[in-house]
Amino acid sequence: MNINVPEVKVPRIVIIGCGFGGMELAQYLHKADVQIVMLDKNNYHTFQPLLYQVATAGLEADSIAYPIRKIFKGQKNFHFRMGEVTQIVPEQNKIVSTIGELKYDYLLIATGSTTNFFGNKAFETQSMPMKSVTEALNLRSLTLQNFERALLTTDIHEQEALMTFVVVGGGPTGVELAGAICELKKHVLPHDYPELDFRKMRVILVENGAELLQSMCASNRDRAKEYLEELGCEIWLNTGVAKYDGMLAETKTGKQIRTLNLVWTAGIKGVIPDGINAESINPRGRILIDEYCKVKSYENIFAVGDVACMNTGKYPNGHPQVAPVAIQQAQLTGSNFLKANKGLAPVKFDYFDKGSMATVGRNKAVVEVRKIRFGGFIGWFVWMALHLMLLVGYRNKIVVFINWVWNYLNYDRNIRLIIRPFNRNLKA
Ligand SMILES: Cc1cc2nc3c(=O)[nH]c(=O)nc-3n(C[C@H](O)[C@H](O)[C@H](O)COP(=O)(O)OP(=O)(O)OC[C@H]3O[C@@H](n4cnc5c(N)ncnc54)[C@H](O)[C@@H]3O)c2cc1C
Repeated sequence: MNINVPEVKVPRIVIIGCGFGGMELAQYLHKADVQIVMLDKNNYHTFQPLLYQVATAGLEADSIAYPIRKIFKGQKNFHFRMGEVTQIVPEQNKIVSTIGELKYDYLLIATGSTTNFFGNKAFETQSMPMKSVTEALNLRSLTLQNFERALLTTDIHEQEALMTFVVVGGGPTGVELAGAICELKKHVLPHDYPELDFRKMRVILVENGAELLQSMCASNRDRAKEYLEELGCEIWLNTGVAKYDGMLAETKTGKQIRTLNLVWTAGIKGVIPDGINAESINPRGRILIDEYCKVKSYENIFAVGDVACMNTGKYPNGHPQVAPVAIQQAQLTGSNFLKANKGLAPVKFDYFDKGSMATVGRNKAVVEVRKIRFGGFIGWFVWMALHLMLLVGYRNKIVVFINWVWNYLNYDRNIRLIIRPFNRNLKA
C-alpha cells in the first residue's frame, strides 16, 4: 500500500524524523519548489534536553513536546504522516513504513539515537533509560511508586533498594539527572514521606572513566563534581557496572549495591532503519556521511544529527551528538540543495561549536563558551535562558518559565503524579 500524499511534478524530499535535524531541514526549505513529506513515529517534536526534568517531576511532559502539525501549520509544501519507517529500499528510491510505502527523490534520515546497552540484555530489561517522553514518564512513575512501596515494606533490605538510586554514566544527562534526584531528596520527598528516614536515601553516580563531563574543561568538571557532592551525591569514578539483576548491581571491581532504581545513561547508538548497506554504518551504530551530509555510497540519501557520523580531521570519531550539530547539518543540507538547483557548487560542513553547558541543580550549572568558563548562579541563569529560547512554541516557553519560577520560590516539584503506573515493557 502506498502512503497517500498528493502526486506533484516537483522533487519529493522525504524526511524521517522530526527531531532537531528533520525539523530544521523542513523549515529551511519552506519556500523551496519541492514537496516535503515527513514521517515520524510520534506526532510531536521532543525537546530532549529537558527530559530529566519530566523524569523528576519538575515539568509536565506536554511542556517539552510540541505537535508537529502545529510547527508546520501553513507551510504549503509540507505534508506530515505519522508512522515508523522500518526499511529503506535505495534501489527503488522508496521507504517502507508501518503505514505503507513511499517513493522519494531525495531522502533525509534524521532518526536520532537510542540508548545503547552494548548488547547487555540484563541492563536492557532491568534498568531505566531516559531517551523519550515515554521513558521519562516511566522513570517518574518508577521513582514515586518505589517511595510508596518503601512505606509499606518491613524488609529493611527491600527498603534500602527502593530508596537507592544508581545513575550510570557521568555525561551531561547523568550529571543533570543525579543532581535533580538529589534535589528531590533534599527539598521534596521528605515532606511527602515524613515517615521514611531520608538519611537512608542514596544517589550514586557511577562513571567508567576518571572524570565526569569528559567533554568539558577541567575546571568545569571539578566544579560539577563539587556541586553534586554538595547535594549529597556519591560519585564513583573509574567504576563500570558489570551486572544488574533488577535488585542487585555489581561493579567491575566487585562492589555490590542494592537498588531498584538503576538509570542507564551510559551510551547511545543511532536509530537506523533496515536497508542501508553495512559498509555505510560504523561500529558505533552511526551512518557514515561525507562532508556534504550525503550517506556513503548513495547519491540521493542524506543523514544528519545523532544518527550520522562525519569523520573529519577535527572530529575523527564524528561530531558530538548534540542539538546544534543536527541543526547545522540540516541547514547545510538545505542550503546545498538550493545551491544545486541554481547550478552552484555545494559547501562542506564546518561545525560552529557555540559551547556546552550542564546544570546540576538550583544555582548550580557549568557553562563554557570557547575560552570563557563559568558556573554558579550566572551559569544556571544562562542555562535556563538558553533552554527557554530553544524550546518550541510560546505556550511551552511560558509554562516552563512559570514552573521554574514556582519551583525556585517554593523549593517544589509539582508534578509528583503517578498517572500511568510504571511498566517495564512500556519503553520508547
Ligand atoms: C536527556 C537528554 C539530554 C540532552 N541534553 C542536551 C543538551 O543540553 N544540549 C544539546 O545540544 N543536546 C542535548 N541532548 C542531545 C540532543 O537532544 C540530540 O543531539 C538531538 O535531539 C539530536 O537531534 P536529531 O534530529 O538527530 O534526533 P532526535 O531529536 O532524537 O529526533 C529523532 C526523531 O526521529 C523520530 N524517529 C526515530 N526513528 C524513527 C523511525 N524509524 N520512523 C519515524 N520516525 C522516527 C523520533 O520520533 C524523533 O522525533 C540531550 C539528549 C538527551 C536524551
